[in-house]
Amino acid sequence: MPEKVTLLSVYRFLPQTNCGECGEPNCMAFASKLLERKFTPENCPPLKKPKYKEQMAKLIELIAPPIKEVTIGTGNSIVKIGGKEVMYRHELTYHNPTAIAIDVSDTMDDGKIVETCKAIENISLVRIGETLKLNMVAVRCASKDPDRFSYVTSLVARSCNLPLILCSFDPKSLKAALEKGQVANKRPLLYAVSEENWREVSELAKQYDCPVVIFAPNNLTLLKSLIKTLQAIGIRDIVMDPGSYTEGKLLKDSINNLVMIRRAAIQRGDKDLGYPIMAVPAIIWMGEKQDPITASYKEAYIASLFMNRYADLLIMHTLETWALLPVLTLRQNIYTDPRKPVSVEPGLRIIGKPDEKSPVFLTTNFALTYFTVANDLESAGINCFLLVLNTEGLAVEVSVAGGQFNSSNVRDLFLSSGVEKMVKHNKLIIPGMAARLKGDIEDSTNWEVIVGPRDSSQIKSFLTKYWA
Ligand code: SF4
Repeated sequence: MPEKVTLLSVYRFLPQTNCGECGEPNCMAFASKLLERKFTPENCPPLKKPKYKEQMAKLIELIAPPIKEVTIGTGNSIVKIGGKEVMYRHELTYHNPTAIAIDVSDTMDDGKIVETCKAIENISLVRIGETLKLNMVAVRCASKDPDRFSYVTSLVARSCNLPLILCSFDPKSLKAALEKGQVANKRPLLYAVSEENWREVSELAKQYDCPVVIFAPNNLTLLKSLIKTLQAIGIRDIVMDPGSYTEGKLLKDSINNLVMIRRAAIQRGDKDLGYPIMAVPAIIWMGEKQDPITASYKEAYIASLFMNRYADLLIMHTLETWALLPVLTLRQNIYTDPRKPVSVEPGLRIIGKPDEKSPVFLTTNFALTYFTVANDLESAGINCFLLVLNTEGLAVEVSVAGGQFNSSNVRDLFLSSGVEKMVKHNKLIIPGMAARLKGDIEDSTNWEVIVGPRDSSQIKSFLTKYWA
């Protein structure tokens, strides 16, 4: 078992002068922020002095996550994967959400390649106030022609600003692509070193300082042996692909491999396996011609399975929004800290162009509730005032039960918002799930409380009935 990093073990390597230069009141508070990844050792100015050089190095080693963080790309076009510290997200916030790349084949015609790159870059979905996007382009050498692959990788590099994955087992094709300056300058991920090509591809990774994938399908002994070989020649940025089978028992084996690898690295401290893992759900499109709807559907659930089981990077093929939406949503859910409910600022929101006769609604500041209610009001074209109550980020039913949604908090919000002066009625519509607070809220605000629907999608029909 690896040694657990504690507050005291981190504090041991700090200067312990409590000088406050880091902005924290003392070194112990700084140690706690380091553990939460809110600071890095460089945020302690005294620690950068030469006399603390050894301590700094030891501290960096101590707090390094068991899964190495690998950066793909350069400048303002980078993706970081890995950097995981725990098996389960309730133990500590998960960092670096699973990166999703979409593959582009070099056998497509040039116009289609440019169009696909733009589509990958432009797919964007807003959910709970966050914009969900795809992260990378994986250029696949299907032509087996180094010149064509080289041409297409430069075309992709010029057509979009996303980090690249160069996919070929042929070292000549990878070399031809890297020799084009604009591709090598993007520091792409090379896919992949295998049992057959490890010497040539690892040399390319070293020469161009690129991160590289090791491909060892369903063979953990081979995977470890290739990792040790690459480590020995000084390659540090490694990503592991233990194979992505998509059918029956082989799919189960693939998922088991991902779990075994992550457990070995985090729970048993096996440093050789402490690298990000990737999977390639896109392989279901290979081989005989696929029905696009069935294949997109299948790819989405296979990608979700791999993401649930520690994949740090996925290569997908579909560009169907309906297939990508559940994958992006799942990623957002996995990488949201379950210890901190996602919340929005409490206060008054104006929806549409309300006037003095417009209804006043009340909801909570749990982000999912707030955005659902606000979207339902906007899409129904309802001009209104929306009071957002601070329930510490909890949903209506939970906060009513927990006491955060109570009549005195509603009164405070009511008074501070000034909504009374904006309308010429005294009616407040509360969520159906807060019905039992009707009397208390009426007593504390002196307004008539109308119990609204339990589901905000019903607001329009509710208003038709109850709001003249
Ligand atoms: S700057 Fe460094 S030495 Fe000073 S209080 Fe912060 S952690 Fe301690």
